[in-house]
Amino acid sequence: MGIAANGPRRAERSADVMKYVSTRGTAPVLTFDDVLLTGLARDGGLYVPDSWPMLSPGRLRAYADWPYAEVAVDVMWPFVEGTIEQDVFAELVDDAYSTFRHPDVVPLVELGGNLHLLELFHGPTLAFKDIALQLVGHLFDHELAKRGERVTIVGATSGDTGSAAIEACRDRETLEVVILHPKGRTSEIQRKQMTTVLSDNVHNVAIDGTFDDCQDLVKAMFNDIPFRDRHHLSAVNSINWARILAQVVYYVKAAAQLGAPEQPVSFTVPTGNFGNVFAGWVARRMGVPIRHLVVGSNRNDILPRFFDSGVMEMQGVTPTTSPSMDIQISSNFERLLFELCGRNGATVTHLMARFREEGVMDLGPERLAMAQEIFQSASIDDDAVARVIAATYRRTGQLVDPHTAVGLGAAALHHDPSVPMVCLATAHPAKFPDAVHDAVGIHPELPAHLADLYDRPERFVELPNDLAVVEEYVTSTTMST
Ligand SMILES: *Cc1c(COP(=O)(O)O)cnc(C)c1O
Repeated sequence: MGIAANGPRRAERSADVMKYVSTRGTAPVLTFDDVLLTGLARDGGLYVPDSWPMLSPGRLRAYADWPYAEVAVDVMWPFVEGTIEQDVFAELVDDAYSTFRHPDVVPLVELGGNLHLLELFHGPTLAFKDIALQLVGHLFDHELAKRGERVTIVGATSGDTGSAAIEACRDRETLEVVILHPKGRTSEIQRKQMTTVLSDNVHNVAIDGTFDDCQDLVKAMFNDIPFRDRHHLSAVNSINWARILAQVVYYVKAAAQLGAPEQPVSFTVPTGNFGNVFAGWVARRMGVPIRHLVVGSNRNDILPRFFDSGVMEMQGVTPTTSPSMDIQISSNFERLLFELCGRNGATVTHLMARFREEGVMDLGPERLAMAQEIFQSASIDDDAVARVIAATYRRTGQLVDPHTAVGLGAAALHHDPSVPMVCLATAHPAKFPDAVHDAVGIHPELPAHLADLYDRPERFVELPNDLAVVEEYVTSTTMST
């Protein structure tokens, strides 16, 4: 049986425990603990809560002064209540954020002109993904230990997810971790952050292909139900609901610091898989007064084209200086699609099937108008990114990484000076030193804990873009340890 089986525990739970449904409408309804371990739903959909809890204005106001971890427990509690004790949950949250190098966890920095930078890169691997994955690693370990089970985490990464997942899961007895990355398409430092972790439970695979090929391989392994069950496959990719949930917290906290609920705020989000910006949508749905969510894309502009036209149309992937956003399809977009379709799983199933077959999905004028009320977008090319890095440094003395620069470039096009604009700084500049150096002639320094990274030995295998070969590898490595 799979780990998400509906055992007798379900029936004992009270009716007000949050239920999670699939965006495709036919997978079993689950509670948070099972959603955490399941990842992709069995009907190919993504899990979402069956209702959205509301934050009270008083609570939101108070969050401005609460420590980050306390806000995190409070905001996430309605989504997890009934599946974990509150003091245990609080301890896991505390442990997760104690690894961050800044006392505020996610400091908010003023850039002038009502523009702010929310620094999400103070975790162990220097990208915002640590915020979700440090917590998810603790939650997985807790839940699996409680059940006396082990799982195999399988993930695809365009660079940052992999290292964040590996840091979150390394050396845990309950977990085996297999991470696929596109060979030669991550930065050297991104690769080293993954491949220099020599823990027995960590397995890095370089796939001869793109990030989307890696993501397709992972999806295919999950859709191979016998394989999935035999290996107790599980995901920590951004399709995992727990990751989205952890990311909602910093939207809430930053908005409160800037005067919510009275003061509306906008956010700009450097976007790839749409997980981060969807967390912003959730914060808004929970009552945070978010005026606009600006989606920043690099040359891979499927989302800006969609937000202009209502038509989602696949094109090839172009490598850019912001590789964590070099993607063709944004997997988390399906969660927004579900909302735009009135939470009708059959409609989502139909649209996604057509998109897979024809590479095009037309949502029509009404759904487009709903999306445009909230979302704005822009595509920023590598030359503009370099100019933004240089201009930001000259104007504010801040070095920003190319992903953050995509956001700043998009924010400049949509900024209404009467509404505070928070740009999410998704990576530390030292994670992308070449692009930063090319733009301003300065080499950003790695924080002390990573200073010797380039000297550490690496371990990984290279495999073709072939499902059978990759499944065989997973079988051989995870069965022998
Ligand atoms: C993953 C990543 C993104 C994209 O985030 P999504 O949630 O996939 O949209 C942006 N910037 C950096 C640095 C990342 O690592």
